[in-house]
Amino acid sequence: MSETAKELKEKLFYNKKNGLLKVDDATYEKAVDYCEGYKSFLNSAKTEREAVKTAVKMAEAKGFAPFDRNKSYKAGDKVYFNNRGKTIALVVFGKEKAENGVNITAAHIDSPRLDLKPNPLYEEVDLALFKTHYYGGIRKYQWTAVPLALHGVFVKRDGTVVNVSIGENDDEPCFVVNDLLPHLASEQSKRTLADGIKGEELNILVGSRPFKDDEGSELVKLGILKILFEKYGVTEEDFLSAELEAVPAAKARDLGFDRSLVGSYGQDDRVCAYPALTAVLDVKEPEKTAIAILTDKEEIGSDGNTGLNSDFLSHVVHDICLTDGSDETVALRHSKCLSADVNAGLDPTFQDPFEKRNASLLNYGVVVTKYTGARGKSGTSDASAEYVGLIRAMLDKAGIVWQTGELGKVDIGGGGTVAMYIANLGVDVVDLGVPVLSMHAPFETTAKLDVYMCYRAMYEFMK
Ligand code: MN
Ligand code: MN
Repeated sequence: MSETAKELKEKLFYNKKNGLLKVDDATYEKAVDYCEGYKSFLNSAKTEREAVKTAVKMAEAKGFAPFDRNKSYKAGDKVYFNNRGKTIALVVFGKEKAENGVNITAAHIDSPRLDLKPNPLYEEVDLALFKTHYYGGIRKYQWTAVPLALHGVFVKRDGTVVNVSIGENDDEPCFVVNDLLPHLASEQSKRTLADGIKGEELNILVGSRPFKDDEGSELVKLGILKILFEKYGVTEEDFLSAELEAVPAAKARDLGFDRSLVGSYGQDDRVCAYPALTAVLDVKEPEKTAIAILTDKEEIGSDGNTGLNSDFLSHVVHDICLTDGSDETVALRHSKCLSADVNAGLDPTFQDPFEKRNASLLNYGVVVTKYTGARGKSGTSDASAEYVGLIRAMLDKAGIVWQTGELGKVDIGGGGTVAMYIANLGVDVVDLGVPVLSMHAPFETTAKLDVYMCYRAMYEFMK
């Protein structure tokens, strides 16, 4: 007996293959259908607050109710913990005690954007503008000359919360950060790309019509404040206790002649949050308690009481343990987690910063990322081979298309996710998510098959 090279290769080589060549048409159609829901989620959840509101609505429609410490729960019962309207944990109680471990999926629902400063409104050369402080890692030059919408809240002195969403609908005005014309940009063009637009130049144009009066200065600013007072009942001082976020004013779209891709703002990380959410909503009566957590603050380092570097998750586990007399420490020690965040897909035009043999590719399925971090794996939890092996077996057994990924070349790459904060609680964690092109840009690209495979992985893990 002598095997041919072809036979031997089939036996020994890791055969990486485009997922669209692996799945049948019916599976692809399921992915396409699934992404219709995904696109509506993107459009109705452009900020963390809106994502939590949307998640609560979807969850309550499926029988979830706010957690109640005084109630007793049995397998299949569904609850949620709403943390200040910005982070949410959705739980389906399992048949086993929490002490045996729970299965956690975690994704983030905040995305890079331009936040208004506490004192944003000013007038310059007869135009009214907002000062901003960008949130998360953006490439500043990408945020000029694109239509923006404004989302968020004013909290008035008496505690009244005024919701704001303006710029998304065709009959609403939008906003913009202006840039210099090429004719006059010769000096600006000598700046490095990183400084092409500086933080203090990300000023949003919000109006130009002066309040009609012969007297006084700042009449354009006054005209804007008059509109804000009429529309929202707020004065300039109310900006001091507001959270207003400027995001791209475009809707999620199919992308490409073949419609195989999704283009949208905020896919990092709603492309994993939506699969985690829909998966936990589909879980019936799991062996182990299933928790999907959609978190705020990941893009600025996960700190704060709505970030995953807080005790929120361990408090959720603690509360669940109270219901069946489990010990929280033991529960955490036996728990498992998929940290669901995006990976950088190999960009056909900018391949250089990637290490091609380990980069993730669009349409090759959901990406398992053993470690993130930067230069020498600094700042990562680096999942164990044992745990990666377990997830690998789960994915293969369920016929889920998946691949591995890394965040660029060793000395170039880097990035962080919430994985390490959950791992630090003593939980087994690995990153699993969707490859994205143009991550953190106003318009990011993903592939429908990968989004659907992410859902399938989340469901398989929690079911
Ligand atoms: Mn992310
Ligand atoms: Mn990100």
